[in-house]
Amino acid sequence: MLILTCPSCGVTGEETEFHAGGEAHIKRFGPGSDDDQFHSYLFAKENPKGVHFERWRHNNGCGKWFHAARDTMTLEVFGTYPAQTLEPPKQIRDKITAKHPGWKWREFS
Ligand SMILES: [Zn+2]
Repeated sequence: MLILTCPSCGVTGEETEFHAGGEAHIKRFGPGSDDDQFHSYLFAKENPKGVHFERWRHNNGCGKWFHAARDTMTLEVFGTYPAQTLEPPKQIRDKITAKHPGWKWREFS
């Protein structure tokens, strides 16, 4: 089972205490964007076998959204951080690099 820690209130719980909200760090396109950009925003999602960054909400707790970096194969959680963060914190990226040398997820590595 996936175990997550909410960075807002510090509670650690099983994934049933939280609600998955899809991929994190999505670049949003609004009015004025072209069809390809908008299509990409709506439908082109990462589905890696390995390191992934996701949005989660602490449903049965504080209700705050946050991001989690985890391995989709092993369910290892590399860390969680506030949803307002534009990119994964360096200590989380370093932790991922230690486990998966040469990993890459979009512009993060
Ligand atoms: Zn919380």
